[in-house]
Amino acid sequence: MIFVDVHAHLQDKRFEDKAKIVDDAVKKGVKIIINNGLELESNRETMELAKKFPAVKAALGLYPTEALKLSEKEIDAQLSFIKKNKNKIVAVGEVGMDYLRSEEKERQKNIFSRLIGLAQEIDKPLIVHSRKAEEDVIRLLEEKKAKKVVMHCFTGSMKLVKRIEKNRWLLSIPCTVVRDQHFQNIVKEVPITQLLTESDAPYLSPAPGQLNEPANIIRSIEKIAALKGMEREEVANNIFSNYKRLFE
Ligand SMILES: [Zn+2]
Repeated sequence: MIFVDVHAHLQDKRFEDKAKIVDDAVKKGVKIIINNGLELESNRETMELAKKFPAVKAALGLYPTEALKLSEKEIDAQLSFIKKNKNKIVAVGEVGMDYLRSEEKERQKNIFSRLIGLAQEIDKPLIVHSRKAEEDVIRLLEEKKAKKVVMHCFTGSMKLVKRIEKNRWLLSIPCTVVRDQHFQNIVKEVPITQLLTESDAPYLSPAPGQLNEPANIIRSIEKIAALKGMEREEVANNIFSNYKRLFE
């Protein structure tokens, strides 16, 4: 059985012994960890991690609030960095929009739109953050006719979840599904063929107040199995096929 974590931030300074974190995950069967960069430095670190650990795959991105700190020229440089590494990465992420932390909606739309275009140009899936901007994010992705999309830790309404499902995009379920009704509802509503699992490590731990790790994906698999009335193995196999269909 292979478990998959499509969204982790192992570059986080709080992870002192990264080899141990990866090793613990792999021992538990989490053999694929997509590390997501947020800006130039963590994108570089993501490339290093992917080079060092066979289980780690690279996603390079530009987090919405990080992007807003940059000039247009610096954004160009970030986009070129992603493009230059296209053969070494499995996705463009973490990207998206965040209206909770910033009201600069038009600039966010402009930058996100460019990132969608880049992902299409290099034919990679997008791993999308959409806090308090869910409908605008979906609309923009639809307008640009994006096909390969993972909505990460999606906290929008069930109506929007249905729209994501209809668009044939995927939803990655965080480890908080063990205690969060919203994600439990998503798991019950959305077909297993459109679900993925993510840690968002070090965030979104199944146990509040702790640092999250990719190894905890196993707890999400157990919860999803219980919610869907499926065997653990069946859930893991489905999610692994979803991963392969989208990222390989
Ligand atoms: Zn994240």
